[in-house]
Amino acid sequence: MRLLATVRKAAPAAGALATMSLVLAACGGGDASPTTASPGPVLIVTTTAILADLARNVGGDAVEVRSLVGLGSDVHSFQSTPGDSIAIREARVILTNGGGLDAALDPIIDGAKASDTTVVEAAEALKADPIGLMPAATGDGAATFPQMNADPHLWLNPQFAIGYVALIRDAMIDADPARTETFRRNADAFIQELTRLDSEIEATLATIPRQRRRLVTFHDAFGHFARRYGFAVSALTGVQAGDVTPGAVRAIVDQVRAEGIPAIFAERQFNQDVLRQVARDAGVRVGVISSDVLTEETPTYVEMMRANAVTLAELLGDEPGR
Ligand SMILES: [Zn+2]
Repeated sequence: MRLLATVRKAAPAAGALATMSLVLAACGGGDASPTTASPGPVLIVTTTAILADLARNVGGDAVEVRSLVGLGSDVHSFQSTPGDSIAIREARVILTNGGGLDAALDPIIDGAKASDTTVVEAAEALKADPIGLMPAATGDGAATFPQMNADPHLWLNPQFAIGYVALIRDAMIDADPARTETFRRNADAFIQELTRLDSEIEATLATIPRQRRRLVTFHDAFGHFARRYGFAVSALTGVQAGDVTPGAVRAIVDQVRAEGIPAIFAERQFNQDVLRQVARDAGVRVGVISSDVLTEETPTYVEMMRANAVTLAELLGDEPGR
């Protein structure tokens, strides 16, 4: 198993950032011999709550995980506090998504982290080694690899989430080799759960006919989800959730009317006013789904994905409950 992670290091002279890829560890089958014993849990700091949830599933009691962006907060516009730098300084592994999603946190991470801390940029690492990290992502999944660059929301395809888990497992093993077997066992079990989740979502969405597989959202987060499950996507604003223009509003209203789309979807972490106005103008219903956040209602990745699928099936399915 090869671990390819992208590690950012601060350039001391200019203060600028350089990106380079390092092969951090190489280990064989199940015979890695521990080289470092860790008395307490390894501190893992993540940018988002979704990354934190994935990390907790892999690390279990052997790690302590802290997310910089809390429940319900928007990662695209998140501003860190001085308290965050304390956790960053103590972290052994820092998990970021990359691809611009959590770029607002790069300066504080680069300024506060210890020199030997591993920074994993999951989306960048998946792009570098998609087949090695996501052996199940063939067919539709493999066809999306060239598009990873533009859309950083890779986790919304559960097959890509499996790639995140593989990266997290390898980074934890690198940080705490004494617990290699624990991390492998936990990751294997979680990957099986994610594989079941992928099948469950497919089954839930099966009630939506092909011609109704139109996913209209606030920001353009669901491209990878859409390609996995056969949807076309449109959004009021782009992958980085910038401002909504009047032209974008008109275009979506026109499209929803022209294509007879029965419902559009707000996202929990964003102001829903504009999207609800679009729905009124077009005369369609509004569902609420999640892309970047965990909330009290859906506090884990698996619950978030499951709830999204149920909501889509309710509003786009054959017999929406009007
Ligand atoms: Zn987003």
